[in-house]
Amino acid sequence: MRRPAALVLAFTVVAVACTSGGLDDSADTTATTAATTTEAPTTTAPSTTSEAEPTTTEAAAPEVSAELSGVGDELFPLLGNSGYDVAAYEIDLDLTGDELMATTVVSLTATQDLDRFHLDLVGMTVDGVAIDGEAVTFDRDERELIITPNAPLTEGDAVAVTVSYRGTPEPVADDAGPFALGWQTREWGTFVASEPSGAASWFPGNDHPTDKATFRISVTVPEGVAAVAPGLLEGIEERGDGAVTYRWVSDRQMATYLASVATGPFTITDDAGPDGVVIRHAVVTARADDLLADLDSTVPILEWMVDRFGAYPFESYGVVTVPDDLAFALENQTLSLFGADFIDFGDDFADQIEAHELAHHWFGNLVSPARWQDIWLNEGWATWAEYAWAADQGFADWDELAAEAPFFGDMGPLLEVTPTTLFDAKVYIRGGLGIEALRRTVGDEAFDAVIDTWLTRFADSAATTDDFLAVVDEITGDEGGSVMRAWIFDDEMPAFPAEG
Ligand SMILES: [Zn+2]
Repeated sequence: MRRPAALVLAFTVVAVACTSGGLDDSADTTATTAATTTEAPTTTAPSTTSEAEPTTTEAAAPEVSAELSGVGDELFPLLGNSGYDVAAYEIDLDLTGDELMATTVVSLTATQDLDRFHLDLVGMTVDGVAIDGEAVTFDRDERELIITPNAPLTEGDAVAVTVSYRGTPEPVADDAGPFALGWQTREWGTFVASEPSGAASWFPGNDHPTDKATFRISVTVPEGVAAVAPGLLEGIEERGDGAVTYRWVSDRQMATYLASVATGPFTITDDAGPDGVVIRHAVVTARADDLLADLDSTVPILEWMVDRFGAYPFESYGVVTVPDDLAFALENQTLSLFGADFIDFGDDFADQIEAHELAHHWFGNLVSPARWQDIWLNEGWATWAEYAWAADQGFADWDELAAEAPFFGDMGPLLEVTPTTLFDAKVYIRGGLGIEALRRTVGDEAFDAVIDTWLTRFADSAATTDDFLAVVDEITGDEGGSVMRAWIFDDEMPAFPAEG
């Protein structure tokens, strides 16, 4: 994620104006969503083969299990679940009616014996749950969907869990986000902004970056509406009544918070990029020429990143530009989310933000934070890449950023974050400066080896700050290790070293 106020003083005034506009918009939308949800049918359809078990949310058992809900994330104890590993999500969404009709098939493998297990799902009405085609008992408690198999799962069992649900997705209140997170409904269409806790607003899953999976997302929309999702477009089918189904497939690993859908009046491009990467943008059709001209920097930025970080890790890349002013941009996997405001900021700044979101595809998307406390690994690296790229183009300066850092507020230790300060300026600025301080201390050759080892060792996985420090120690010894530790842990932000 990247907000303008976090980094560039020159844009602070613009950012404040955009932020308040965005919040107003989202407050309206949230209120509308809540009202709609309240009025939606709330009966729970029969979903069980066990006569003894009631299936409504009032069911007495099973209860939420502390051992099964959450993966031990200190900042977000309820995110994710324990006891299984997800291999694939197959999400079918139908947006042609008054409410979202959805089916998600979660293919998972038990990592322990389970007489029940949890998926994360917020709001929505669950009509039924089945395991390998057989209806099973389920219960709801806050964001936990508690599923009881007809026969307990044994460690190593691989099953397909089908959840049928409907409703108007309710974004998840999160103080760190620019608005309630997850699925967003607007007059012109929909989009998704989930980091860190919003994915459960639109599909049931194991909502933590430590459990990545492949995704197939099919979206049925009314005539004249386009739907875009991560990966490659497998096909478009007409349903007969004018509705159209877009089938998107991503065979690469993806964390739940990076999965997304956008529907609306979009033009979707499909161009051959470097090394076989499909360049796919989704832009508002009414401004398509203008927006695509702004996005012509995508390929040169991608080439700069590949040169520095190695092969681009996914099948496709592009940007979806929504008509709203969002006051942030977000690195949804293969489909970075941009509001009209960021694109309209002007070429250099829009390109710098595009560099930031693209850099996340290595730092955050390929190698994800194993705990949300490690968010600086995402934002510090994306800020480093953004500034390194912009400095190469001649419109950014590390020493100026270091001088301006104190004006952005708290620049304290990087792991001292809370759910409400997850995206504070320090994780970007102190994080990015710390990484540049490492480069200036150990030189480009060792620095590039750190990047290569980090990205290779933890590809398609998640890692912690300690994992990162172990790589720095291994490659650079105490010289780099002590610098990096000071930038991460010292109470005061260290002095920024001069270019060697
Ligand atoms: Zn970011």
